[in-house]
Amino acid sequence: MRILLTNDDGIMAPGIQALWRELADIGEVTVVAPDTERSATSQAITVHHPIRVDNHCIDDPPLCAWRVGGTPTDCVKIAVEALLEHKPDLVVSGINQGPNLGTDVLYSGTVSAAIEGALHGIPSVAVSLNTWRPADFGPAARFTRKLVTTMAAKSLPPNTLLNVNVPALAEEQVAGVEITRLGVIEYENTFERRQDPRGRIYYWMGGSIVDAANEDGTDVAALKKGKISVTPIHFDLTNYAIMHLIEEWKLTT
Ligand code: MN
Repeated sequence: MRILLTNDDGIMAPGIQALWRELADIGEVTVVAPDTERSATSQAITVHHPIRVDNHCIDDPPLCAWRVGGTPTDCVKIAVEALLEHKPDLVVSGINQGPNLGTDVLYSGTVSAAIEGALHGIPSVAVSLNTWRPADFGPAARFTRKLVTTMAAKSLPPNTLLNVNVPALAEEQVAGVEITRLGVIEYENTFERRQDPRGRIYYWMGGSIVDAANEDGTDVAALKKGKISVTPIHFDLTNYAIMHLIEEWKLTT
């Protein structure tokens, strides 16, 4: 099994390193990852300047990777379309530091890399760990290994990926696995207005998550219960149910 591994936290991030080690003995893993952190870059691609690619190696275990001066989506595109000799059987993105839940998946570089894999017709999975603090990525990496093995034996419909969020808990504390739908993530106080040393005003986006109501069955609710959330995602954003309503507007040229 040929696995393409990428992320949005950058090639040096502990999450991708943990996954790299965990997946290395179940398939031929090729790492193609951004040179620096590219979180929250969504599906961005680099078209206005060149994309530099070089080799990055670690000693333990001895592995070499492609380090890309681009976004997670660039990484998957350039891997599949330029760097790799063979199309991968699977794209794995992560493990991200921090969750990718609900509406946040629209901003996520981690999820977008998996979307790019699915756009190329490759079964794909994005994995995130539900903490921003330094943590043990081992349990999430071991779950990903099991999931990837299952994915190799099953099949996903076209244009579909799995978005996985793992609680930052020891394995024995994890309350199970739930197949979920996307919930809602809302922020408050998003922009801080500040002054720079020369007296000019600037803004810094931050904010904190509002405890929005998320029903049972959502990814947000599953994480709160200490479960691993697995959400099948597709990217046809068409709202089929209301097409007829817009048709009734009788728009004309
Ligand atoms: Mn990230």
